[in-house]
Amino acid sequence: MLRVALPNKGRLAEDVRELFGDAGLEVRARGERALVASLGGEFEAILVRAKDIPEFVADGAADVGVTGWDLVCESERELGMLLDLEFGGCRLVVAARDDSGIATIDDLRGAPRVATVFPHLAKAYFERIGKPVTIVPVSGATEIAPHLGIADIIVDLTSSGSTLRVHQLHEVATVLVSSARLICTVKPASAAIAKSTAELAEALSSVLRARDKRYVMANVPRESLEHARKVMPGVNGPTVIDILDGGMYVAVHAVVAQSAIYRTVADLKALGAQGILVTRIERLMP
Ligand code: AMP
Repeated sequence: MLRVALPNKGRLAEDVRELFGDAGLEVRARGERALVASLGGEFEAILVRAKDIPEFVADGAADVGVTGWDLVCESERELGMLLDLEFGGCRLVVAARDDSGIATIDDLRGAPRVATVFPHLAKAYFERIGKPVTIVPVSGATEIAPHLGIADIIVDLTSSGSTLRVHQLHEVATVLVSSARLICTVKPASAAIAKSTAELAEALSSVLRARDKRYVMANVPRESLEHARKVMPGVNGPTVIDILDGGMYVAVHAVVAQSAIYRTVADLKALGAQGILVTRIERLMP
């Protein structure tokens, strides 16, 4: 049984459940506050805070986990990174008050006090760039620290920048770019756990790969087949299927990037295709 540590609430929880659900591993918890959930057959989820997940996995309480890359790096634990899950995107940034006169990192003078929930990452960043600072660890509401006079600047997460703007702060530098990741122990507990871990990573990545693709089916005039091949190149070229009536049309199927669907359908129409069908793909394994 593979133990998977997943965020119980917070920003990542919903996207994680959706991703696992799409991979056929629905998170079935007994109640809102359940600590353990079934993921079906071979998997069991433990539902904990995103911040604690690197520790749970590093200590072997779970074999794999999903959490933010920022939290993995801040934990300073030795962990394997299996997959970027492409949600929970954000950046850890240095920010200063709009009226501070600090526009770039080179404008920092003396040893400014830095309020942050990420003391390890902040310390490592300022050491790397050779700027002396005093770290002021806080457990939340970092944005108000410069206004309360307990810090000169902050190191905090941002995605749209709106929270910083509301607090009259602006970005000065990027410390880390983050997103949700699938992480694992460096040494799997057994060969069976290693195998299940690899299968889980493959299942999740097949869902991610399918998300921005569509499956297109169209009946194309036989004489336009060469043209259709250019319109729908697909993964390994389109699949061409004879239609039983033996008539002038053949069925052409291919995987197409979602961003190209509009053009593909218009081009298929233009070459006389009929019965055009565009569907979502649940999983894609090349
Ligand atoms: P939680 O504290 O459980 O809500 O999860 C916070 C995690 O969500 C962070 O560690 C990041 O990995 C991720 N995240 C994505 N966007 C943001 C954001 N704008 N602010 C804070 N966390 C974010």
